[in-house]
Amino acid sequence: MKDDCIFCKIANHVIESDYVYEDDLVAAFRDMNPLAPTHVLVMPKEHYETIVDGVPAQTLAAMVHAVEEVAKSEGVAETGFRVTTNTGADAGQVVQHLHLHVLGGKRLTDDLA
Ligand code: AMP
Repeated sequence: MKDDCIFCKIANHVIESDYVYEDDLVAAFRDMNPLAPTHVLVMPKEHYETIVDGVPAQTLAAMVHAVEEVAKSEGVAETGFRVTTNTGADAGQVVQHLHLHVLGGKRLTDDLA
């Protein structure tokens, strides 16, 4: 855990949040500024800055599993949803702790770029 990282603190319950899924490797909680009816952040409990920061395969698999669990429990697995991860400056990454955005519950726009 990185001491000055807000997502480390939330993922490890140093600060509590609105969790929707959790296992040994991963936590998922609601984005505080939701862009869609479902907007959940899925992240590893260990600190990695981005998806290209040497994340172990087991952790990546756990994150994908968490996305499936969240999509099912949020009711968007059938209707459709989007998974994104902002990586670095050009993508506008704000929090430097790897996280996947799970967005759904409405017809999403096409403007990914
Ligand atoms: P990005 O790093 O570009 O993926 O953006 C960070 C995302 O984290 C934004 O959607 C924020 O609304 C969200 N966020 C930042 N701090 C918190 C927090 N303490 N709890 C929940 N969501 C947060």
